[in-house]
Amino acid sequence: MRLHVVTFGCQMSVADGEELASPLKGRGFTAVAEPDAADAIVLNTCTVRQHAEDKALSLIGRLRAWKEERPERVLIVAGCAAERLGPWIQERFPYVDLVVGAKSIEDYPKVVEQALGARFDALAETAAAFPAAAAPDKPTGWQSPHSAFVTIMRGCNYSCSYCIVPAVRGRELYRPYETVMAEARAKVAMGAKEITLLGQTVNSWAADGLKFPDLLRRAGAIEGLERLRFESPHPHFVTDEMIAAMAQTPAVCEQLHLPAQSGSDRLLKLMRRNYDSASFLAKAQRLRAAIPRVEVTTDIIVGFPSETDDDFERTLDLVRALRPSWSYTFKYSPREGTESAGMPDDVPSAVKEERLARLNEVCDALTEEALAKRVTTTVEVLDETGGFGRTRDGFKVSWGGATAGKIVPVRIASTSKRILRGDS
Ligand code: SAH
Ligand code: SF4
Repeated sequence: MRLHVVTFGCQMSVADGEELASPLKGRGFTAVAEPDAADAIVLNTCTVRQHAEDKALSLIGRLRAWKEERPERVLIVAGCAAERLGPWIQERFPYVDLVVGAKSIEDYPKVVEQALGARFDALAETAAAFPAAAAPDKPTGWQSPHSAFVTIMRGCNYSCSYCIVPAVRGRELYRPYETVMAEARAKVAMGAKEITLLGQTVNSWAADGLKFPDLLRRAGAIEGLERLRFESPHPHFVTDEMIAAMAQTPAVCEQLHLPAQSGSDRLLKLMRRNYDSASFLAKAQRLRAAIPRVEVTTDIIVGFPSETDDDFERTLDLVRALRPSWSYTFKYSPREGTESAGMPDDVPSAVKEERLARLNEVCDALTEEALAKRVTTTVEVLDETGGFGRTRDGFKVSWGGATAGKIVPVRIASTSKRILRGDS
């Protein structure tokens, strides 16, 4: 039997995709890249912005034909939008076999078995009559075995006023130290050179008398692990202790995601981010003092309720001062049930567009500058898929290599589409 996994959203969601696949793999499913070749589809949804949710819903709509073609096929809809809209999805798309929300991921294998176990037995018999058009291809939803994710916490205890994550993922839950280490060691033993520790506020992790900086030091010492990353940290927990652990642990990569959201102190307050622009920038400065080669990336929202031209200028100032090597920029999207959804969404759409374009211009120029600095230098790349990988400081590199799983030096000849292009 063949399984296709589609994932929308953040890296947490991608890691969840692997967990969502696992009980089906245990049932004998193998991965295929094309839905048409699949006997089952797991659709892992995101709801952080309306656009992400709409994309998932429209795909569910399009999968009606896929189901009608062979009604014994299995369609599972999971993740954050499934948490938010579960009963509505079931009613609106009655051909979906199972809707399971992001909060239920710990119980998911049991839920799948109970709801669909008998169906899988029947499907196994008919699937043989529908041989795959093509051999199993590079699967989506599974990661490169050389760069693995390890989820260390779930949920979020913050209440950023714009954000639906705490509502759909629940309160913070930390995985025990030994469980995290055992999973990381197992992935390294299976060939991972790089581990990314994952959580919505990954650096708030604390368990068994240890805090996140301790975990960085200990995971960084795993024999055979070359690179350690983590995603996505909350600025509040970017402490001097954490910075010291990063600087003193050779495996920890010289890259930090520091989501700013805004540069206006008035808006940061309304967003309930628990920092102001000065303390945020001071943290970035301490990080750079401790790790001079570090590259910083960020997230910015434009058009939050009541954002003025002046607030927006403060955001541009912050970005210019932070100098992120990469920025994820978003137009504010009101999410039902969040605090800011109760504020008037009063920045006109055209103004949001215009601010986003201006912000992107500044962010893109900083990215181009960082990329250009690497041209004619030799960078260290973990070859993830044979000629494609990333540097320690987070730049994507493409070259004519065939050294998957190896860390290799690559001389950079040029850049295009925000990717470093190697000589050979
Ligand atoms: N846990 C992560 C981020 C989760 S959401 C963190 O705290 O950094 C990823 C990003 O989506 C956020 O950093 C924010 O920039 C953006 N985002 C979240 N809610 C949004 C909304 N309602 N509208 C627009 N962007 C949003
Ligand atoms: Fe959302 Fe804020 Fe939690 Fe990040 S820290 S997931 S932005 S509520």
